Amino acid sequence: MSGQHFLFVPGPTTVPQDIMNAISAPMEDHRSLAFPELTHCVLDDLKEVFKTKSGRAFVFPASGTGGWEIALTNTLSPGDTVIASRIGHFSNLWINMCKRLGLEVIELEAEWGEAAPIERYQEQLAMDRNHRIKAALICHNETSTGVTSDVAGLRRAIDDEGHSAMLLVDGVSSIASIDFNMDAWGVDFAVACSQKGFMLPAGLAITCASEKALNAFQKKTRTPRAYFRLQDMIEANDTGYFPFTPSLPMLRGLRASLRRLLDEGLDNVFARHHRLAGGVRRGIRDGWGLDLCARQQGTKSDTVSAIMMPDGFDSNEVIRLAQLKYNLALGAGLSKVSGRLYRIGHLGDLNELMLCAALSGAEMAMRDIGIDVTPGSAVAAASEYWRSDKQ
Ligand code: PLP
Repeated sequence: MSGQHFLFVPGPTTVPQDIMNAISAPMEDHRSLAFPELTHCVLDDLKEVFKTKSGRAFVFPASGTGGWEIALTNTLSPGDTVIASRIGHFSNLWINMCKRLGLEVIELEAEWGEAAPIERYQEQLAMDRNHRIKAALICHNETSTGVTSDVAGLRRAIDDEGHSAMLLVDGVSSIASIDFNMDAWGVDFAVACSQKGFMLPAGLAITCASEKALNAFQKKTRTPRAYFRLQDMIEANDTGYFPFTPSLPMLRGLRASLRRLLDEGLDNVFARHHRLAGGVRRGIRDGWGLDLCARQQGTKSDTVSAIMMPDGFDSNEVIRLAQLKYNLALGAGLSKVSGRLYRIGHLGDLNELMLCAALSGAEMAMRDIGIDVTPGSAVAAASEYWRSDKQ
C-alpha cells in the first residue's frame, strides 16, 4: 500500500526517528568499560519518570506481562492473599497470573467501563483485621476500556485503614503519558513497558520498586524466581552491568526516549496527552454522537479512547476496513467487548494533525459499513477544540 501507515493502536506506538537512530547504532560489548555509564544514566532517568527518589528502577527483556510477573514473584509468596479489581481485559489477565502463581485473590468485579472501585477495596481492607491481605493491585489505565483509575485514592484507602498491604500498580499504558507519582502515591511496585508512552518497540519490561518493597518483601518471598530475580539484577546494576546479555539496541533506544521525555518536560508530556485526548473525545461525542466505554466523569483515559458501536454494528468490520482501505491500524475490542468497540490510541509521539488522520480514517470505515456519522464531523469538532484550547 502506498503512503504512510497510520498506527493508532494503544501500543505499540510510533517510534520517532531519533529513537530509531539510537536503536540502529552498531553493536557494542556489554562488558566494556564504557557500558556502566549507559546503565546508570538509564536507571537514574527512569526514576525521574516514575517520580521516585528512594525507589529503584529495573529493566528486563520482557513485555508488560513479564513486568507483572516481576512484581508478583519478587514481593509475594504462594498462598499470600491479594486484592484486585477486574475492570477489563488487562486487569483480568493480571488476576489470572496471580492465581497461576498460587496467590489467593479477593476479586472485586465491576462493569467494564468503570474505574477500579476504591471504596470496595477499602471495605475489604477494613474487614481484614489480621492483615491477611499482602498487596492491593490496581490497573492505573485499563487499556481495553480506556479508563483511568485513582491510584492515589487507593493509597489513601490503605492508609485510612492503617493497613500494611503493598500497593502494586499496572502503569503499562499510563506511565510516561499520564501523571504517575510513585513516591507521592506510596506505590510499592510499578509496571511499565517499552512500546507505549516510551515510544520504543516492544521488548522491555520497565519496572520500579519502592524501598519498602525491596527491603521488606523481596528478600523473603518464597515464590520460585530465576531469570526475574531482582537481587541478581540489583547486584549487577550496582556495578553498572546486567546479570545477562541486555538488549543493547533497546537500552540505547530507552536512553533516547528518556532524553525526549525529559527534554519536553514530564508535565508538558502529560498536558499534551490531555489536550490531544480532549479533542479526540470531542470528535467522538460531539462529532459522531457516539459513546465511550468509559462511563464515569474524570475517568476517561488520556491515552486511549474505546468507542462503543451503535447497535447492530460490528467493530471488527470497522477495524478490518480501516486497515484494508485506509492503511490505518485501530485497536480491537478485546475478549468480552470484541465486536462491541474499537479503540484509538492517542499516546506517544503524536500531534493534532496525526489524530485528524486517525479520526478521518475511522470515520470512513464506519460509514463504509453503514454507520450514520456525518462526514468530517469528528475532525471538525476535534480541530475546533484544539484551536480554542491553544489560545
Ligand atoms: N497492562 C496493560 C494495561 C496493557 O495495556 C497491556 C498491553 O497492552 C499489558 C498489561 C500487557 O503488556 P504486554 O502486551 O506488553 O505484555
